Amino acid sequence: MINIPEIFGCNVFNDDVMRAMLPKDVYDKFHDAVTKEQSLDRSIANPVAAAMKDWAISKGATHFTHWFQPMTGITAEKHDSFMSPEGKDKVIMEFSGKELIKGESDASSFPSGGLRSTFEARGYTAWDPTSPAFVKDGTLCIPTIFCSYSGEVLDMKSPLLRSMEALNTQALRILKLFGVTDAGRVVPTVGPEQEYFLVDEDMFDARPDLVFCGRTLFGAKPPKGQELEDHYFGVIKPRVAAFMKDLDLELWKLGIYAKTEHNEAAPAQHELAPIYTTVNIASDHNQLTMEMMKKVARRHNMVCLLHEKPFEGVNGSGKHNNWSLTTDSGINLLNPGKTPYENAQFLLFFAAVIEAVDNYQDLLRASVASAGNDHRLGAHEAPPAIISMFVGDELDAILTAIETGEIYSGVEKQRMEIGVHTLPTFSKDTTDRNRTSPFAFTGNKFEFRSLGASMNISAANIVLNTIVAESLRHFADELDGAEDFTSALNNLLQKTIKDHRRVIFNGNGYSDEWVKEAEARGLHNIPSSVDAMACYTTPESVEMFSRHGVFSETELISRRDIYCENYSKVIRIEALTMIDMVKRSVIPAVSKYAKDLATSAASLMDLCPTLDCTMQCSLVTEVSSLSAEMYNKLTALETIIEKECHNMTAFEEAQHYRNNVFMAMQDLRTTVDKLESMVSSELWPFPTYGELLFSV
Ligand code: ADP
Ligand code: MG
Repeated sequence: MINIPEIFGCNVFNDDVMRAMLPKDVYDKFHDAVTKEQSLDRSIANPVAAAMKDWAISKGATHFTHWFQPMTGITAEKHDSFMSPEGKDKVIMEFSGKELIKGESDASSFPSGGLRSTFEARGYTAWDPTSPAFVKDGTLCIPTIFCSYSGEVLDMKSPLLRSMEALNTQALRILKLFGVTDAGRVVPTVGPEQEYFLVDEDMFDARPDLVFCGRTLFGAKPPKGQELEDHYFGVIKPRVAAFMKDLDLELWKLGIYAKTEHNEAAPAQHELAPIYTTVNIASDHNQLTMEMMKKVARRHNMVCLLHEKPFEGVNGSGKHNNWSLTTDSGINLLNPGKTPYENAQFLLFFAAVIEAVDNYQDLLRASVASAGNDHRLGAHEAPPAIISMFVGDELDAILTAIETGEIYSGVEKQRMEIGVHTLPTFSKDTTDRNRTSPFAFTGNKFEFRSLGASMNISAANIVLNTIVAESLRHFADELDGAEDFTSALNNLLQKTIKDHRRVIFNGNGYSDEWVKEAEARGLHNIPSSVDAMACYTTPESVEMFSRHGVFSETELISRRDIYCENYSKVIRIEALTMIDMVKRSVIPAVSKYAKDLATSAASLMDLCPTLDCTMQCSLVTEVSSLSAEMYNKLTALETIIEKECHNMTAFEEAQHYRNNVFMAMQDLRTTVDKLESMVSSELWPFPTYGELLFSV
């Protein structure tokens, strides 16, 4: 039997372990530093390091690593052993406070977007005591930030921590105005719902596109896709159930609150949702969750696909970022309570988010930009590239009342009658589940749904935290020293809603009408991720991020360039994989098939000249003409990919990859997919969509 409370967090150097292992004064100092955000007293580094080492060794660890999140999207580790020579032929296990606090790492292996010139290749990792250390695969992992020699951030975590600071500072100003005295700190809490696909390992290995790119570059539509919607609430298949159970166990050991596991809309698609926690920990945990998903799937002879769009024509995978604001006294500031109309403090925080989303739609769009996510956003699937907000009927009516100054009469809560008298009636939620909105208020939190499945959630949360901090700053400035707080507050709410109402849309976000209407409302529609990446460096963005100390202009430029470089690299790898698959596998298969058809026709005619060979002749004609078309498109792609990009900026190069290379790839794909649906299944060199999607 599995004893979950016993297993949970057993590989984490958490508060309980520290309390038990550290001298009381050391523990108190550490605890104060973390909970009150005071700077860490360096004298405690040695005893903390020693306790960490002893604990880690008791968990089977032999090595330690500074575990960090460079701009590659994945985590990085460099393992060092605890071993240290002592005297002749002897070793002891050692780990000092200095090694705990600071590490030096060769930054030249990580993207820096021009921040690091090669003669200054040094990068530093510095301990983040707010996220607990843990043991994974025999190594003590210490969560750290990563910066350049001159102090510029090279990772996802440092700006996330800075954005939390900014938000805390401004939120506390507002709370003070409302007379709240028991809140010492406000933190954003996040629960990210993670979508993924599982495919059979043998099928995966037979597809170079999945191996190199994580997504299929070809694939004709299978006879059955997700149209029957039989997968979502269907029974979880035994192999998948075994995987989920195993995964939960691994995550629980790491102190990750994995809570809900279910099937998703597409065949072979599933979702995992953890219970929400402080955003920087949620981010670390989500990185670990993705890593564990991949690892555990292999144990079950499956491969976990985290790409945003592994299969064309089938739903892609995203991440729903549920975000809220919580005080250290346990109050959710986005909880409307029973009578939101009378809850001015809630309404002010709510309005702050509305203003933030409207003013910085482009930054939110930029925060979810990637080559992979382009297949979702702006394509015909959830959610659209236009950032709008869903608030539900009740809050919409309240906002209207505030805006027009009319008395709010309330949206009556409707009773749901199910028609069977033994079942209880229950009241309908006033926020419906609008699944098409990229940014939906869902009861007591906002759900930002545009994140791609493979992304580090920090990118979106850095933006979200900072833009809300900016609204709160502006609100606090306005209300500070107002003669009549209540009327100043009313005016502020009314003005904010008037000015930013346009970003609220409760209808169907996938419809073509919305695209037109959004344009009329003056909302951004940025289908291309490359265009979105450029939004990081607009003057408004630079001013806002620097004001809150989250990014300097240099850091923003470097970040934009890293994203652009990454975009170009991803498309380039995809294009090269495509060329290779066509040349070495598809061409031989279609040639063989054409030859088989021709041979068949010839041998029939040999047998008897009057036999009807119409089928063979028309098929061979069609295959030959499609083959010629494919060859032309292949040549076109090869020519485009050879174009020199030396003189281009990172942004220009990414534009080139999107507008020319990617388009040529799409073009080639269309023809290859047509051929796939014609050529003999025995000859087709790759497992089909049908085989991949229904393989587990
Ligand atoms: P769904 O969106 O599918 O209806 P749930 O209602 O189960 O899913 O919740 C989704 C996620 O929202 C979970 O990870 C949950 O922990 C998280 N969540 C709930 N309350 C909050 C909150 N106050 N702040 C942040 N996340 C929250
Ligand atoms: Mg959700």
